[in-house]
Amino acid sequence: MHDVMADKVRLAFLPTPLHELKNLRLTPLMPKMYIKRDDCTGLALGGNKTRKLEYLMADALKQEADTIITAGAIQSNHCRQTAAAAAMHGIGCTLLLGGDKTGNVNGNLLLDELFGAEIVYTGTERLGESIASVYDTLKRENRKPYTVPYGGSNPVGVLGYVAAMRELMDQLDSMGITIDHIVLPTSSCGTQAGLIVGSKLYGFKGKIHGISVDKTLSETSVLEEMVSDLCNRTAKSIEAGFVVSRNEIDIDHSYTGGGYGIPGAMEVQALNLLGAREGIILDPVYTARAMGGLIDMIQNNMFSPDETILFWHTGGVPSLFAYSEFLTGIESLDSPGYSIT
Ligand SMILES: *Cc1c(COP(=O)(O)O)cnc(C)c1O
Repeated sequence: MHDVMADKVRLAFLPTPLHELKNLRLTPLMPKMYIKRDDCTGLALGGNKTRKLEYLMADALKQEADTIITAGAIQSNHCRQTAAAAAMHGIGCTLLLGGDKTGNVNGNLLLDELFGAEIVYTGTERLGESIASVYDTLKRENRKPYTVPYGGSNPVGVLGYVAAMRELMDQLDSMGITIDHIVLPTSSCGTQAGLIVGSKLYGFKGKIHGISVDKTLSETSVLEEMVSDLCNRTAKSIEAGFVVSRNEIDIDHSYTGGGYGIPGAMEVQALNLLGAREGIILDPVYTARAMGGLIDMIQNNMFSPDETILFWHTGGVPSLFAYSEFLTGIESLDSPGYSIT
């Protein structure tokens, strides 16, 4: 079988920390909770895309690309980390960002500009719908573009999370911990797919629960099929010798709230709770939504108190600063919801 650890450039500070969340007491019979800190991958304020980019950048450099093209929402964490990775390697970066140019340059967008990325605003398109035409334009200008899909989720990028599962298992081994459930936000599906392939390769026995953060994707595509398809294409590319079926994929679609990138009271409460109890910063789009969902599941006794849960913190922290006005407008701190003992 192909060596998953080969073919990557180093962008992340690994392993990321794994530690217990000691102060969250959401129910009298609270399961034990750990957090995997991929908000601390290091590159440009961290996040899950850094692991994928270690493999994508290696591939781009191998193909002697001089420009990386990728796409996302205006506050895309993926685009910010890609722009930083390109800057580190002295190559260009063209970002297709959903939205329109305004004077309001903050959060991830501010960092994109700082890293010298060329930004194309794509209005209502945030999933890379016009990547191919930008690719053709760059080709005509005699550049050597390399396309990284939306979210970095293709069989090359997914290897980052196959390797992350290996990293986790080594940590669990040395700390003497068993994890029964991993909970993480799912959007372009690469993170969940990588963890699933990794769990099969390395024998992780717990369950992996994705929480969809994107109402549009949840409604218009079959996310479970996207994940299983990515799993199978990745497994094939490394000759892993197994297949993953759609019914092995667990994704919860009940926390997509007001839609992608529109946090509500649940997200603000999760942000507050992790901040005030643990000194941990979540992001309003992905991790606060997934943590809000996890809190709801715990309060509905979906886990037994003798089980151990791991929340995979996928990063996203810079977008918090772009949402400050929006978030402070949401009634939350004093609203009922949590009975914290
Ligand atoms: C992109 C992203 C996710 C989703 O990961 P996918 O691999 O796209 O499913 C989760 N959290 C944060 C902070 C992200 O930027």
